[in-house]
Amino acid sequence: MPTDPRLVAATRADEEAQYEAGLRPRTLNDYIGQDRIRENLDVAIAAARQRGDALDHVLLSGPPGLGKTTLAYVIANELQVPIRSTSGPVLEKPGDLAAILSNLAEREVLFIDEIHRMSPVIEEILYPAMEDYELDIVIGQGPGARSVKVPVQRFTLIGATTRTGLLTSPLRSRFGIVHRLDYYQEADLQEIVRRSARLLDVPIDEAAAGEIARRARGTPRIANRLLRRVRDYAQVRADGVITPAVADAALRLLEVDEHGFDEVDRKLLRTIIEKFNGGPVGVNSIAAAISEEKDAIEDIYEPFLIQIGFLDRTPRGRVATARAYDYFGLQAPERDSRLW
Ligand code: ADP
Repeated sequence: MPTDPRLVAATRADEEAQYEAGLRPRTLNDYIGQDRIRENLDVAIAAARQRGDALDHVLLSGPPGLGKTTLAYVIANELQVPIRSTSGPVLEKPGDLAAILSNLAEREVLFIDEIHRMSPVIEEILYPAMEDYELDIVIGQGPGARSVKVPVQRFTLIGATTRTGLLTSPLRSRFGIVHRLDYYQEADLQEIVRRSARLLDVPIDEAAAGEIARRARGTPRIANRLLRRVRDYAQVRADGVITPAVADAALRLLEVDEHGFDEVDRKLLRTIIEKFNGGPVGVNSIAAAISEEKDAIEDIYEPFLIQIGFLDRTPRGRVATARAYDYFGLQAPERDSRLW
């Protein structure tokens, strides 16, 4: 076992990736929840297949772990075309993307994760490829330089981003199909837990699946992660079966409470309440106070806390709501709402 913390983290990430790969649904039918998106895609995919044409470019947004990557692979599978996958930060030089684009097969899917983190010069390469299926390549330098157009196959770009607001508008406007994934309903998460338990071959009680689903912050990746930890607990401290009592004891040991909050959520809320008098406070100050990345706060923690009504986003900053005070057994101060 590695002891270097970075190596340990990398090994964990690898483990998680492998484990996730095994649990990924492969067809639209197996993809649980997000019904409206599924239905829309079903129609668009069937139409593209009937015409023998490439599917329009697709933009998927939403917090991490909601199934954007999974959906990209499902779309390619349903289209019966190959998929190539890369990510915004990995594409460093325009040549990297040009090489990928010029090697695409007809109707192939190109998946770009974290597409908002692509550099502007790389975006420039993408525009004509998305719109006219061609690359503008500059040959030579200085006054002798000339631009040549190189055709690329008709392909489908699927971009994933945690926040559409971070995308430049020329890029956003080039996507024909745009969907925002929402946090999952509890019933859908429960089904995801049941399905994953079946694939992992762990017996689980219906109520226990519900317990894990309730604490998964509306996120399939977290539901699967909790299931994996609860499975360990059931194996070591019980007879391998996940009953509600086993699930509860395991989740308690992990310090995941009934809202699915972990240490960071609690620290974030407590800091706003105690250090900043409940807000309004800017995200930079919060990030500095709790030593977390600003991006992680904006992408992971904040959207969920807002969704369940513990946090408000106002023009002057983030504000802890009465529910957040209640959670810690504290009394919310009287506020003049006009000041927010
Ligand atoms: P994202 O790309 O949005 O960060 P992923 O697509 O990697 O999220 O999803 C994380 C994990 O959650 C996947 O490995 C998959 O097992 C599970 N998952 C996501 N969406 C669904 C779904 N709709 N049904 C079942 N499992 C899902």
